[in-house]
Amino acid sequence: MASAYDKLRRILSLEQEQGYRDRAVVGGVSRFLTYWEREAREESEEIARSPAVAEVVGMLSGYADLSLAARRDTLDRLLSLLGDEGIRRGPGTELGPARPSEDSGADAGDDGPGAPHRSASQVETARSGGQETISGAPGQLSLDSPITRLKGVGRVIAARLERLGLQKVRDLIYHFPRRYNDFTDLRTISRLTLGEEVTVVGIIQSTSTRRTERGKAITRAIVTDGTGSIETQWFNQPHLASRLKLGDEVAISGKVGEYLGRLVFNSPEWEPLRRELLHTARLVPVYPLTEGIKGGWMRRLSRATLDYWAPLIMDPLPPSMLQSTGLMQLGTALEQIHFPASKISLQQARQRLCFDEFFLVQLGLLGRRHASRSQQGRALAVPWHEIDSFFSGLPFQLTGAQRRAIKDILGDLEKRVPMSRLLQGDVGSGKTVVAVAAMLATVRNGLQAAVMAPTSILAEQHYRTISEMLEGCPDTHCTLLTGRFSDAEKRCLRDDIFQGRAQIVVGTHALIQASVDFARLGLVVVDEQHRFGVAQRAALRDKGTDFVPHLLAMSATPIPRTLALTVYGDMDISVLDEMPPNRQRVETAARDRGSRERIYSFIESQVAQGRQAFIICPLVEESDRVEATAAVAEHRRLQEEVFPRLRLGLLHGRMDAEEKEQSMTSFQGGEYDILVSTPVVEVGIDVPNATVMLIEGADRFGLAQLHQFRGRVGRGQHKSYCILLFDDPSEDSLKRMEIIAETHDGFALAEKDLQLRGPGDFFGMRQHGLPRLRVAKLSDTAILERARSEALRLFQEDPDLARPEHRAIAMSVHRFWRSGDVP
Ligand code: ADP
Ligand code: MG
Repeated sequence: MASAYDKLRRILSLEQEQGYRDRAVVGGVSRFLTYWEREAREESEEIARSPAVAEVVGMLSGYADLSLAARRDTLDRLLSLLGDEGIRRGPGTELGPARPSEDSGADAGDDGPGAPHRSASQVETARSGGQETISGAPGQLSLDSPITRLKGVGRVIAARLERLGLQKVRDLIYHFPRRYNDFTDLRTISRLTLGEEVTVVGIIQSTSTRRTERGKAITRAIVTDGTGSIETQWFNQPHLASRLKLGDEVAISGKVGEYLGRLVFNSPEWEPLRRELLHTARLVPVYPLTEGIKGGWMRRLSRATLDYWAPLIMDPLPPSMLQSTGLMQLGTALEQIHFPASKISLQQARQRLCFDEFFLVQLGLLGRRHASRSQQGRALAVPWHEIDSFFSGLPFQLTGAQRRAIKDILGDLEKRVPMSRLLQGDVGSGKTVVAVAAMLATVRNGLQAAVMAPTSILAEQHYRTISEMLEGCPDTHCTLLTGRFSDAEKRCLRDDIFQGRAQIVVGTHALIQASVDFARLGLVVVDEQHRFGVAQRAALRDKGTDFVPHLLAMSATPIPRTLALTVYGDMDISVLDEMPPNRQRVETAARDRGSRERIYSFIESQVAQGRQAFIICPLVEESDRVEATAAVAEHRRLQEEVFPRLRLGLLHGRMDAEEKEQSMTSFQGGEYDILVSTPVVEVGIDVPNATVMLIEGADRFGLAQLHQFRGRVGRGQHKSYCILLFDDPSEDSLKRMEIIAETHDGFALAEKDLQLRGPGDFFGMRQHGLPRLRVAKLSDTAILERARSEALRLFQEDPDLARPEHRAIAMSVHRFWRSGDVP
């Protein structure tokens, strides 16, 4: 069966012996590869689908063009994969993947009746646990084989594993422990102390099982090690008794507890003593589990899978990079993250896997950037004079940061490479005017600009602001397109856009509908860009006709540098890190419910002075509908019971666009004193007369979001207040309240949010179209920067990753980005 691989190995060994001169086979390795591939694929249907053949072909194609050193690297790596071991166990041969350790049947652990069976050839569903045994037919496997190909994983188990997101062998290998139990502290029984997590090794002296009144089994064993003995008990594992054999030597790991004044172990991990321990006396992996998949079983499956696969995993990083970075080999790292030999090797394993994630993210982003920069754009002639006079017509002076950003952006527009720039700036930092300068330049080049905002309220506000700003500029026509227009109006607007009469088009998602066609789209501005998916942003840009429009994305969600490098590695970034002068600081205070009455009278006194207030209802995650209902009720309560003499408006996500618009305009126009709103108000509305922002259930919001709410007030000349009413008086929540109260810089808040919440799905990485990070934390700045510089270096050498020695990396990038899959 293994003849193709045998042949390959023979020829490559010969080639190695002959000094990599590409003479080992007539016509050279590349030529041989063509029929080898066919032969290997013919040998078995299975193989044809296996990436193993593809990987060999990938590594060897172009062999003739490689330098001697590169040939040596390639062959050495390939041969070590195909080595004696590899060949015997390699694809196309009798594979024994995920073979359980021989004694798994007698294995210790918490798996009770579902314990793997001794028989190696049968699949059996266990009685109560329902876990199938680790056994099953061998066959050819690749990392992409379904998990059911592993011994012991039948359909029932596979369905459970799927709940953990595990479908392929590769998924299992990348299913990392959630944490580890540190059972490395080995003690003699005489030196045990209450409450410590330790391991003892001893002999089973006696066992007994009894039933409680409710019929639950309690299994006891006395273990002795020559310095003393200790009682150990397990609950509800009735089959355990038969596995605890008198006189057997066992390792027991767990927390030392107490029962009637004696030290005991309660339900510890245990296993018969042997050379390699899985559940005891080491850093023991603790996996994310699901119903019907138990910890001990998962550990054995993982161990058996790694035993087979870890040595076969090809490291995509070239040896030179491994050497210069000092990173651990991939196979070793994968083995060590599951079963670390020590804390140090665990850390090295993590570093390696973290590096891989960042590295692949960066390469993907560089690829995107490269692709977008090699597209055909249009260089604009920037009318500097007119832009200057536009600025001097404004009622304020630009800040230094605004001037720098404008210079960056207009500079980009003058180039043929389509701009891809993110403008980041805290709420109120003045992003709009910066964007308007770019729109003006675009219009003066006879091109159109499109501005997309996430909600109609915001689109409408932009439309008003932009039209107002451009009032003094002749021949700049601004148009609004949102979902709220009638079909006839829309048709008319679409015609204006298609004919090019609409020069600046402001709108919502309505802009990316298929029916909207631009005459000559030159600039795309996306506001609150994190509110849009990648596809939506791309869709607007695709409205360009014979060249790719420039793109300016704006975000008021400040993002720490580490994150910016990760998330926006494919964009250039300008930051407005300076607020317009005389911006007041919004006084922020956190209060508990007991202060509600006082807060209401405070609001009343502000209204008496002619000011207005926002009251934000708590976040309801259930649904828009429930949230809206709650807001309606709260509005009624406040109007009837609390502020009967004041005028209260209402805003929620279930209102149609027109109703929302009406609420907002009325509030802006001073017809309401208070606006009661669900969190939909978050996005950029401007009401300079509003001075109070009361946020109910403030502890349910993230820091960044609270900061956004706060940014809704303090926009006029009056002193403004943000009051955070919280329900949960936990330490954690108080800490967050304290941070928001004393931090007013959005960037600093974002850093703190990141530290508090951890990397998680901060700012929706997935929404940015990025793969999911499993190991890497965004706080791992050093590794990120290392990975970025390695990625840049590699990218400069070989931007398409086309060289044979980079083929494996290219495959990893592709896999990682394709589906957020594991690398
Ligand atoms: P954001 O960055 O939140 O989108 P805007 O562009 O809406 O901020 O600007 C907020 C307010 O600040 C607007 O009323 C705008 O006219 C005003 N503004 C912008 N730049 C300046 C400046 N340099 N000096 C004073 N006010 C400014
Ligand atoms: Mg804005």
